Amino acid sequence: MADSVDKNMIDKDEYPQTAEIENRCVHIIADLWHAPKSWDTVGCSTTGSSEACMLGGLAMKWRWKKKREAAGLPTDKPNFVCGPVQVCWKKFARYFDVEIREVPLRGDALGLQPSDLREYCDENTIGVVATLGVTFTGIYEPVADLAAELDAMQRDLGLDIPIHVDAASGGFVAPFVQKELDWDFAIERVKSINASGHKYGLAPLGVGWVVWRSRSDLPEDLIFYVDYLGGNMATFALNFSRPGGEIIAQYYNFLRLGREGYTRIQQACIDTGKWLAEEIRTIESLELVYDGNGGLPAVCYKLKEGKEHGFTLYDVSERVRMRGWQIASYPLPSDRQEVIVQRVLIRHGVSRDLISLLLDDIKRALEHLQRNPVQNSDAGPTFNHGAISEVKVNA
Ligand SMILES: *Cc1c(COP(=O)(O)O)cnc(C)c1O
Repeated sequence: MADSVDKNMIDKDEYPQTAEIENRCVHIIADLWHAPKSWDTVGCSTTGSSEACMLGGLAMKWRWKKKREAAGLPTDKPNFVCGPVQVCWKKFARYFDVEIREVPLRGDALGLQPSDLREYCDENTIGVVATLGVTFTGIYEPVADLAAELDAMQRDLGLDIPIHVDAASGGFVAPFVQKELDWDFAIERVKSINASGHKYGLAPLGVGWVVWRSRSDLPEDLIFYVDYLGGNMATFALNFSRPGGEIIAQYYNFLRLGREGYTRIQQACIDTGKWLAEEIRTIESLELVYDGNGGLPAVCYKLKEGKEHGFTLYDVSERVRMRGWQIASYPLPSDRQEVIVQRVLIRHGVSRDLISLLLDDIKRALEHLQRNPVQNSDAGPTFNHGAISEVKVNA
């Protein structure tokens, strides 16, 4: 990895073994995600999930456009449908001129629901983006149920809408610790998936991955053949030069840890998350929003509703910051913006000991704030997951 930190991975002619290792990683990941012909599918490394999502989105846009052109139909109003997505999808929408239809959260939903789809999809829908590990809470959106509803819509309405799964975090969690969950290429409608190697993939910053179900799912028009570095090299990426070290480290972890090692690490994180959730459950003034079951190794909570606390969760953020913890408080996306939450993600290296210290500090902060209610607090959101709309400060 150190040897490759100053090697340019894009120069595949000069560093053919880096290219070979990247390619092996793609097929290891395709196999992990149950691609029907994992050895033959296409994919690539990226700078992170943001670039990987852009590539997934572009491929969906191209496939839709070609189909529409072939049928002599207009191609000027593409849209995609999603739940509360990470900001990269808002960038994709703006940079590549695709309308984003972000379905608001209804009732106590925390993500996109199958029942939302008929209202939001139409003939101009290039795809549905499902998130495995929603940024705001850590939950997984129900990919299999969304696919089943899209199957029904194809029968009833003749719309054949693909799914891209943004598995930035979940892509390296679910295959190891939620093996029974149906979310990946085992579902035929899932045409592409991305994940961040530098999140639960356990590689150093920054490497991402995007893989297509099969070769035919990546439109040939988007592949550029570059010959000026020698050889004739196919590239599909937004970025060009990038260090090769992250790819080597990713490959090393795949080989060194294997399925067994990743499973043990992610399971330890899941267990710590569940333990934290059970402890939070016993705290009088807090209420769990996500309890660490069925999604990422994470916990999400809010102040108990229907009670006057004399402080906000923003005050709690400020208070624990004095002890060195940066836990952002932020509103859920629309239509649940009145709910302010905090989220703790557990990754490799965040031990039970560390979480136990955190818990003590949260309790201490809450006790302090209960004894000393905050008047005219100007603590407000300092972080909003890149939500583009302005966040109202709860003064
Ligand atoms: C982190 C994240 C991204 C962006 O990934 P980067 O690797 O930081 O570019 C996209 N989608 C989701 C769901 C994420 O959690």
